[in-house]
Amino acid sequence: MKSTWFEVARPQKIDLNDWSQHFRLVRDEQIKEFNYYHNPEWGIYLSPPATFMVYGARELKRLKFDNSLASLRMWGFVFNESERLFRAKQMGKRVIATMGDLGTVPVIIMAFPNCIPFYPECIWWTPFFKESTVLLDTATELGIPEAACFSKATLAAFHKKAYFPKPDLIFASTGASCDDYSCIMQLVNDLGYEMLWLEIPFRRHNDEQYPDRFEEYLISEYERVWNKMVELTVINDKTGLIPSIKKANRLRSLAERIKQLTYEAPITPLPALELMTIEFGNLYGYADLDEWLDIVEMINETVAKRVEKGIGVLKQNAIPIAWITPSADPLLLNLVEDCGLRIVGTEYVINQALVPIEENVEPFRALARSFMKASLIGSTQERIKRIIEGVKNERIKGVLVTNMLGCSHCAMETRLIEKMLSKVPVLSIDVPVPFGITEQLRTRIAAFAETLR
Ligand code: SF4
Repeated sequence: MKSTWFEVARPQKIDLNDWSQHFRLVRDEQIKEFNYYHNPEWGIYLSPPATFMVYGARELKRLKFDNSLASLRMWGFVFNESERLFRAKQMGKRVIATMGDLGTVPVIIMAFPNCIPFYPECIWWTPFFKESTVLLDTATELGIPEAACFSKATLAAFHKKAYFPKPDLIFASTGASCDDYSCIMQLVNDLGYEMLWLEIPFRRHNDEQYPDRFEEYLISEYERVWNKMVELTVINDKTGLIPSIKKANRLRSLAERIKQLTYEAPITPLPALELMTIEFGNLYGYADLDEWLDIVEMINETVAKRVEKGIGVLKQNAIPIAWITPSADPLLLNLVEDCGLRIVGTEYVINQALVPIEENVEPFRALARSFMKASLIGSTQERIKRIIEGVKNERIKGVLVTNMLGCSHCAMETRLIEKMLSKVPVLSIDVPVPFGITEQLRTRIAAFAETLR
């Protein structure tokens, strides 16, 4: 009975206190219904966000969240990931770190029963959620220059051994992608972690002109991943790749549908922070793809209902903009919406995790082809093609670029992006260190919104 509140409540962004109030309306059966690794005994994760604040995610008291039950479920699941990975290990599952390729190697890992892939670099949000520089300072002590990208938190997490269990295997992709992260992976290697290095090839500007050898080369790299996994699991059944690709595609199409519904609705049905979390879920389903798929299905239903009723979380006159490069600090997504903007396009450097994987060709070839659509391995022009189209058809009125200190592709690409997007106002800002958002930065975003208006 009580849970009907969620069905009738007006969509809006609410804070931690509101969530704690509303959480009382969630039925006990509902809490037990959602669990990870299909285990109702200890796999429960539906909790109010305040629980995670008590565990140290201090920024949550500043953030605002969507008030749907689907979003509450999503946040409980996302914040529970660290616990989930340790549980996986306790249960005898294999925990596999996949680093650097953002989206493709996990599809291979998930073809093996009881193997859980995860991306250690996703820890880059942790210093912000926790409003703590401990991981960043530790990375500096371990030899990374202070002016290095926030993904250096990954090195500290490997060093501290408290954020995820020791991986059974580590696949590290390097090459034509992010040099900064390659250095971080190298330092993880120096800590004594054994890795299988994979090489990412460069992408030509025009998709039509790929030399076939790029595709063949990636296929041979994926064969190496497969063989290493066979060595670990003593299972060699390539038919497992087919359901794994199908699941990845189901997730990709759902995420795309939620984005399109949200972008095109007259009133934004879902906040940008939740949307970004969904987009990044495509990488590996936050370490339980089945449960994540179910959550995303639920969010899709919620969004579709809101669109049908013409209701949402932002004002109708919010100005549509695109966002380039993800912000390490989630609070910025809230701030931008508070200034009267809405996000209707993104380029979060994970295009390879968003595109459909072909299902009618040999699985490794299909994966290689999808990976060749990756954001960071081709030209800047290719990267922002969709944004330029949105500007041309007047759907996108402005562009926000968030730069990370020490991130070499930001330093090299941002000016180019500004030049290529000269037909629309562009604001480029640097994401400050945790707890570092100043009045000056808020004013710049507000002034940008005012200019657009
Ligand atoms: S933010 Fe940029 S520099 Fe840092 S890991 Fe990501 S791609 Fe590399």
